[in-house]
Amino acid sequence: MSFLAAYSDQPLAHPTPEPSAAERLWLALVALGLLALGVAALAPAGLRDTAFWLGLGLLSAGALGWSWRKFGGSRGVRHNFLWSRASTSRGAVAWAAGVALTGFYVVLYWWPAYLENLIRPLDGLSQLLRGRAADQWFLYGSFYTLAVLLMGGRALLKYRHSPYQRVRTASVMFFQLGLAWLLPGVLLALQQPEFYFTYFWPLKYDYLFPGGVQSLLQNGHLGAFMVGWGIIMSFVATPVLTYFFGKRWYCSWVCGCGGLAETAGDPYRHLSDKRREAWRYEVSIVYTVLGFIVVTTALLWLNAARGGALLGRFSDEFAQTYGFFIGSIFAGVVGVGFYPILGSRVWCRYGCPMAAYLGLLQKHFSRFRITTNGGQCISCGNCSNVCEMGIDVKQYAQRGEPIIRAACVGCGLCSTACPRGVLNLENGPREGRYQPSQLIHADSLRILS
Ligand code: SF4
Ligand code: SF4
Repeated sequence: MSFLAAYSDQPLAHPTPEPSAAERLWLALVALGLLALGVAALAPAGLRDTAFWLGLGLLSAGALGWSWRKFGGSRGVRHNFLWSRASTSRGAVAWAAGVALTGFYVVLYWWPAYLENLIRPLDGLSQLLRGRAADQWFLYGSFYTLAVLLMGGRALLKYRHSPYQRVRTASVMFFQLGLAWLLPGVLLALQQPEFYFTYFWPLKYDYLFPGGVQSLLQNGHLGAFMVGWGIIMSFVATPVLTYFFGKRWYCSWVCGCGGLAETAGDPYRHLSDKRREAWRYEVSIVYTVLGFIVVTTALLWLNAARGGALLGRFSDEFAQTYGFFIGSIFAGVVGVGFYPILGSRVWCRYGCPMAAYLGLLQKHFSRFRITTNGGQCISCGNCSNVCEMGIDVKQYAQRGEPIIRAACVGCGLCSTACPRGVLNLENGPREGRYQPSQLIHADSLRILS
């Protein structure tokens, strides 16, 4: 009889604690909110709007109340029992959440007519903000922003002892609410392009495709400013800011995808695959996506310069293919839908061309590193556990080596979770960033990252 079989029916020394009565009450409000939204999705027009707003209200109150009960007490990172709760250890609850999220994305992209009852209650808000009726993308943007704000509130409570986490969380909430939801809506109301100032090529690839540039330039000075903004942010600001601060200035402070991962995805950050094979997949996939978007952009411009003689109609199909497979399926359906199963940064790690671009800069042209005081490390593994990018931080900490990895988004959670103050996010001089053993280590893996 194996060791595990012999002890599998023994009670655990520290059984997973049940939620308190107050926590259950708040969670019941969340469940009622979801139920009301389900009713709204099917109800006739008279009941629809009431159920929708009641659902959102209950959901919001329940999420914030539960966060307050759960994290409002003692300060400090408490990640106990994450690997034994069904909701955070790929149990039945996690699978149910993953299927529901994935299903929502599938309906949103391909059968939006089924969401009509959830879109129409937002007409009033959409008219107020954008001067037009709501559509599926307004519904999506509103739900997305609400998720970042609610779960951002949770993150602010949970990590309130850390000034870095407080400011970083407030930053992603601000950029999502202000620049990714309010401002594009106001621009639409003013009959201007719905432009997102926080997304740049190669992530928002079409902003620098010939068709995107031409369409923006039809909007006078503002359109020209938007094109200039995109070019400067992609090719000047990104290298300069990454040189000084690493990719964290974007991935953990500004980007909406990162913002959702850091807030709504926080309960699942430990699920990222830390195996070396996953690192190999990460490198081969993410740089392929970056290469694909660079080649696509170059071909489209070459085609435009030759008056369409190079690709003909194929140029549009080329761009649409990328948009479908990478923009819709990878970033949305897999990237967010699979949070509860694969972790919160699947898209950022394996699919985002902006993360790949920033990662190359961070690895080879940046002052950013995480320094480690190996003598203090007690090998608890908290740092590796919380790393959403699948970096085995402990391995570096034990050897006292600085962490210089293209994947690191500088979320700082490894440092926040470390009980011994071993890890520090720093922007030091480039000289001496690498240690000889790291060069050998990287060489043996034959990897770029
Ligand atoms: S660096 Fe800190 S969190 Fe990581 S293993 Fe060492 S003591 Fe634990
Ligand atoms: S190494 Fe630390 S700062 Fe970098 S992504 Fe992982 S947890 Fe975040």
